[in-house]
Amino acid sequence: ERERARLLERTAKSGEYYERAKAVMPGGVPSQFQKNDPWPTYLTHGRGSQVWDVDGNQYTDFHNGFGVMCVGHANPTIAAAVKARMDEGTHFAAPTEGSIIVAEELRRRWGLPHWRFTNSGTESTMDAIHLARGHTGRDIIVKIEGTYHGHHDAVMISVKPSPETMGDRSHPNPVPYGLGFAPGTAENTRVVPFNDAEALAGALDERVAGVIMEPAMMNINIVPPVAGYLDKVRELCSANGTVMIYDEVKTGAAVAAGGMTELFGVTPDVVCLAKAMCGGLPGGAIGMTDELAALIEAGQVKQQGTFNGNPLTMAAAQATLLDVLTADAYKQLHAANEKLMAGCDRVIAEYGLPAHTVGLGSKGCVVMSETPVREYRDYLTVIHHDLTDLAWLYHMNNGIFMTPGQDEEWTLSVLHTDADLQRYVDVFETFAREVTN
Ligand code: PLP
Repeated sequence: ERERARLLERTAKSGEYYERAKAVMPGGVPSQFQKNDPWPTYLTHGRGSQVWDVDGNQYTDFHNGFGVMCVGHANPTIAAAVKARMDEGTHFAAPTEGSIIVAEELRRRWGLPHWRFTNSGTESTMDAIHLARGHTGRDIIVKIEGTYHGHHDAVMISVKPSPETMGDRSHPNPVPYGLGFAPGTAENTRVVPFNDAEALAGALDERVAGVIMEPAMMNINIVPPVAGYLDKVRELCSANGTVMIYDEVKTGAAVAAGGMTELFGVTPDVVCLAKAMCGGLPGGAIGMTDELAALIEAGQVKQQGTFNGNPLTMAAAQATLLDVLTADAYKQLHAANEKLMAGCDRVIAEYGLPAHTVGLGSKGCVVMSETPVREYRDYLTVIHHDLTDLAWLYHMNNGIFMTPGQDEEWTLSVLHTDADLQRYVDVFETFAREVTN
């Protein structure tokens, strides 16, 4: 209550904005994911690793726009590329060289031969599912319980199902995430737990067009794949003639040059990207095999959009991928992440906090649980959600900007300094001291 009262006081102007915003935007926000309790923090600007809110509070940003801003805020290289493009025209709905350069770079990073562009992660996963169904002539999509892949129908199933609705683990119910879906949507989606190849094997048959998965779950903190799991998924999909889709919207270009595909050495048939690849402009991409690309080339699967490959987005993506997120930048991000995790690990051990850290590339989190989380059902049962909520409030009140969802991860940028990391650890240490006292 004390921390909540502090937040209300420190962000009083955000409260005023909230009242005004609510009159014109449902929940006072442009996107549901920006909603927050007690209200959203309305920001004015960002520079490097720092952001400022409308009350004038300064924060070190570990939210980083849901992991988009690995380049850091107002990065001069990105700003220069975007400004230069502004002067040459920002939209033609005709291809520019920028799209070729970015596609070539994505092919180099991921090894998949063909690429198309989208405007968001949602569009990337939607196109991937059209490809899977178009290629196989089958209906069913298998997804992982508890995973979010954007807000189109096929994947808005069992995103965060409640214990009352989700059914038995051996036969999870496909639970629609909200209202508005045509009857039959859930019936065309099968749900399996993460990190369980046997369960996946049981869900695959001649009706399954595609398996869509994040190679590490990124929305219940971070849940890495157990050893051998991704190889087994690859094997099962190939044997069943099912298209294997990686949703690397969060991990791609953020955790390594070639995302999880590079880190774990398993190549799917389709990779979905968005977020970090465009350095802060909206955009996404899908990578695919020769066979799948042929369907698009022939116009059988419709992959299209007015703003696909938009020159401004491509200019930002080119600068992000070629000039800012270089091989050295990934080394720097990985080292910084290790350092931050080591700092948090020390605090956890020293204060006996029931928690552990998980990290992946530029991303990491403190999971308030003594035991590891392997899948969504673990997340529901083993996490101390009250501690997670309190830690969130505590960080926000002490100048550490966090994602609105209390179960997301931090993302570092190339502009985070050692002092920024130390700040996080110091706040976390004060938190640990207070709650264990
Ligand atoms: N896939 C994953 C794994 C995501 O985390 C998200 C968004 O958070 C999406 C897809 C959807 O991306 P977008 O919000 O750009 O539509």
